[in-house]
Amino acid sequence: MLSSVLSKEACAKCRFCCAFRRQSLWETPLFPMDTVKKWEAAGYGFTREKSGGEYGRMKLSDRYLTADPEEEVPCYFLDGEKGCVLDVKEKPFDCKIWPLRIMKKENKELVIALTPTCPEMGKTPSEALKKLVEEGLGEEIYRYALQHPFVVKDYKEGFPILMSRPAAD
Ligand code: SF4
Repeated sequence: MLSSVLSKEACAKCRFCCAFRRQSLWETPLFPMDTVKKWEAAGYGFTREKSGGEYGRMKLSDRYLTADPEEEVPCYFLDGEKGCVLDVKEKPFDCKIWPLRIMKKENKELVIALTPTCPEMGKTPSEALKKLVEEGLGEEIYRYALQHPFVVKDYKEGFPILMSRPAAD
């Protein structure tokens, strides 16, 4: 969804968003239940959560081997050679829109924000990214979030906002 501003080649080389330190586990992608059931049958562990609709989260917390807070554990679906092995239908929406996030502020405003740690996109939204969001991607993200409220995360200070609107409730 961001291929016009973030090349697949750059993501394939980087993979920053596909491995997680303990403090980044809140960032792990959330999987719709049809995908969860398929991968559970293949032996992968998920916690099932129900806030904002039923979804699954990978059980990565017991995979750390050291107490080092900088240790990273890869996503189940990251192949060292090929990158992400999921096809476009199975890839979580969180991954499709990375490094964008849809987030809820304390006043319930829903915002589309840039994760400022993406090494490729940087800390400040580019004009091309702003245009992409304004010209359709933003609406697409809001639409998805309306049907899948679990993708909405709590807003974090320092995430630059590209679009905002009041919450529906
Ligand atoms: S599902 Fe794919 S893109 Fe998403 S974190 Fe895992 S390996 Fe990366």
